[in-house]
Amino acid sequence: MTKHYLGRACKYGHDDGTGHTLRHTGSNQCVECMVDKRKTEEYKEYHAAYHQKLRANNIEKLKQYRQTQIDKGNHNSKYEKDKTK
Ligand SMILES: [Zn+2]
Repeated sequence: MTKHYLGRACKYGHDDGTGHTLRHTGSNQCVECMVDKRKTEEYKEYHAAYHQKLRANNIEKLKQYRQTQIDKGNHNSKYEKDKTK
């Protein structure tokens, strides 16, 4: 399975010297352009936001986990009470 192919020259001049550009099979995007895009501020901001969101999700999960532990504790105390009946 090939992920890349040599296609039409990129408008930004990312050719391999023969007038062809390495492109992604499927998206047809220039591989070099995609690398450049990753270096842009927009991309960095996107990732910063993404990681911030991820952190927020983790905090939420942690809260839920703690709540689960508390719930379990309640459940256990009820169970203990039932056992002593
Ligand atoms: Zn390009």
